[in-house]
Amino acid sequence: HRFCAALPKAELHAHLHGCARLDTVRELAPPGVDKAELRNTSEVGQNDRSLDACFAIFGAIHKTVTTLAAVRRITREVLSDFAADGVKYLELRTTPRTLADADVEGYVRALLAEVASFEAEQVAQGISWPMTVRLLLSVDRSGDTAKAMVTVQLATRLRAELGCIVGVDFSGNPTRSSFEHFREAFEAARLAGLRVAVHVGEVNAPEDTAAVIDFRPERLGHALLLSTHDLKRLRERPIPIELCPTSNLKTLQLNELESHPTLTTWLAEGYPVSISTDDSTVFDTTSSRELALAAMACHLSVEEIAQLAQAPLAHAFDPDMAAMDRLRRRFEDACAAA
Ligand code: 5GP
Repeated sequence: HRFCAALPKAELHAHLHGCARLDTVRELAPPGVDKAELRNTSEVGQNDRSLDACFAIFGAIHKTVTTLAAVRRITREVLSDFAADGVKYLELRTTPRTLADADVEGYVRALLAEVASFEAEQVAQGISWPMTVRLLLSVDRSGDTAKAMVTVQLATRLRAELGCIVGVDFSGNPTRSSFEHFREAFEAARLAGLRVAVHVGEVNAPEDTAAVIDFRPERLGHALLLSTHDLKRLRERPIPIELCPTSNLKTLQLNELESHPTLTTWLAEGYPVSISTDDSTVFDTTSSRELALAAMACHLSVEEIAQLAQAPLAHAFDPDMAAMDRLRRRFEDACAAA
């Protein structure tokens, strides 16, 4: 773990509210709100992190983070936490929602403002290797298609105005609705030049998975439950996969990483994967810890661990090729020195 903590890391799959500090969320909970779900998040070890339990926690967090000031605070803290863990390139994702004092656009603008001020502060503090932050806007599959289109339009417009936004994500309760139902919104995103990441195969949904692979998003989230046919298609034309070891283990209710359905196979085959946290608070983890867990489960050498730490850069959504090249070289140098 110490070796992984010292490496530079690129985190591609982190949901803002799932990474919000628990102490802050508890502090923000208004009087009278049932804190049962929030207490639940601290029951580390024997905790229930089935998909249902996770979605109950997300609901509870959304009920407590209800103002612009609260969103800005959790954003700031999440950015600081990833930077403190040695993350040098972060793609953070979040589902735009209405707050007590803002509409969805106000929500996204507040986030962008917080990212900009975080980046400016890193420079002002003279930090030699500041963390780059990029944003993905998420479409919630339990919402409606009109809302999805608003999210895509917002991403397109605010990216043109302020940069930082690089793509859109499809997430939310995987037992609800289908990718096909939202396909039009993702086609619009693609036409606008936004990159697309799609959560898939978290539950057994063969038709949904086939439709997602047909669409060929730039990245897949999790992709755990795949048929022989899905595996064949992905091996023929790989789509990079974001794997979140602890999250995958908990939501599939497995006991050890050795029984993860794809992790060891993908790594042995050299399939393009990025190791990520998903929801660092909900799963009580960090980017370094997830990297260490994957390394141990797959018995990786230090060279292989360093390669795994750099792998996500090849799947990053930032379209600035020159900046990504500089980042890649910096990762290479730092990994060689480690
Ligand atoms: P937010 O988008 O509100 O910042 O972050 C929390 C949201 O991310 C959740 O309400 C959910 O829609 C999505 N999310 C977080 N973790 C997962 C996950 O493991 N699977 C899926 N499908 N969605 C998730």
